[in-house]
Amino acid sequence: MELTQCDYDSPMYRAALVQLGETARLINLPDNLHERLRHPKRAFIVSVPTAMDDGSTRAFTGYRVQHNLTMGPGKGGVRFHEDVTLGEVAALAMWMSWKCALMGLPYGGAKGGVAVNPRELSDKELEALTRRYTTEIAPFIGPDIDIPAPDMGTNMQVMAWMMDTYSMLRGHTVHGVVTNKPLLLGGSHMRREATGRGAVCVFGCACRAWGWDPAGMTAVIQGFGNVGAVAAESLRGLGVKITAVGDRSGAVRNPKGLDIDAILRHCRENQGWVKNFPGGEPITNKELLTESCDILVPAALGGVIHEENADRLRCRVVLECANGPTTPQADAILNDKGVLALPDILANAGGVIVSYFEWVQDTEHYFWEEDEVDARLQKIMTRAFEEVNALATGKKVSLRAASMMLGVNRVAEAKKMRGLYP
Ligand code: NAD
Repeated sequence: MELTQCDYDSPMYRAALVQLGETARLINLPDNLHERLRHPKRAFIVSVPTAMDDGSTRAFTGYRVQHNLTMGPGKGGVRFHEDVTLGEVAALAMWMSWKCALMGLPYGGAKGGVAVNPRELSDKELEALTRRYTTEIAPFIGPDIDIPAPDMGTNMQVMAWMMDTYSMLRGHTVHGVVTNKPLLLGGSHMRREATGRGAVCVFGCACRAWGWDPAGMTAVIQGFGNVGAVAAESLRGLGVKITAVGDRSGAVRNPKGLDIDAILRHCRENQGWVKNFPGGEPITNKELLTESCDILVPAALGGVIHEENADRLRCRVVLECANGPTTPQADAILNDKGVLALPDILANAGGVIVSYFEWVQDTEHYFWEEDEVDARLQKIMTRAFEEVNALATGKKVSLRAASMMLGVNRVAEAKKMRGLYP
């Protein structure tokens, strides 16, 4: 099938295929396996009719894509954002496949989403939308089939509604159907912080590997939600100075260092927005990405570092907390400039690792202490960084190429061992 005719065609899906193609070349992937990995196993498009507070009904469109289920049940977040498309969800599902395999987790890759701006909904409308979306995808999810989690625009409360809806349909409580639930409902310690903290753990490993001292370095963070805000706190813990942050409302900078606790307080008091924070000077989101710093942390949307701005980036390291923040074209420009990218499937894997821990705890009905979760998270992320770094050094490739080589190769090997059915 011509790519342009492909149902999944979108800038993000094309980027995912380019990365896969480049990896296939590096690992000499046989064509028949490459062909199987290029296509998601299955995708669901559902209508999500929702009763609005004004008495009207709006039908939103929801998606769930399972890219591969070779290593185990599907795993991946649910995104509520107005720009969500089938192609974006498919790309994110594919990246989940490589990420889970890279981390050695017994999962396939999946992702879901609804094209909606959750901030335009009341709590009642958001709950109704979540419950209907869950009902529509219920036949295709479950602890042994596919386990959603939060992503952009969704949170612990959304996961509690999803778990409740699925459980009501089954007639009994099913903790393991989603992860990042509240602790009282079978959640795990540290799940909320896992992605941001995990990313900073990978950055710490990189510093140790290259003899860098993070104390006194500066960081700029795009996105101040679940992941960005925790990454800011964790970087501060290493002595890094956060000089600019932004979200969809706008951005602020202060070359002397922003007071992260004060911004968090400001966000709590201002509907979650960074905008109008008095401890910094306002800048645009465009300016934010090209601010001079040591560490640039994209923690919002995909594709924000692209051909037009990559050359103007003024950082030493890109710590990719968002999924797919750097296009393949931008990646080549950054490589030429000597900017080091700690790639998404390595850097932001903390979330899915602690999701895995939550699922294991739910399955065993036995819950771990926070220090146990933290120690196990650090162990897996450190091991993954060391494997990636060793391969990158040995093969003289980037950390992104090495991460992809390890992830794709593991899925391909598993497919080879299982054979082609029927
Ligand atoms: P979130 O909804 O909690 O926060 C998203 C942030 O991005 C918000 O501050 C929002 O204002 C900002 N944002 C949205 N649109 C923007 C725009 N156009 N310009 C600037 N900022 C914008 O979401 P999150 O869970 O923190 O996820 C952020 C990123 O991290 C996403 O790419 C997600 O896929 C990725 N990720 C999340 C997890 C997780 O555990 N939550 C795990 C791995 C990867």
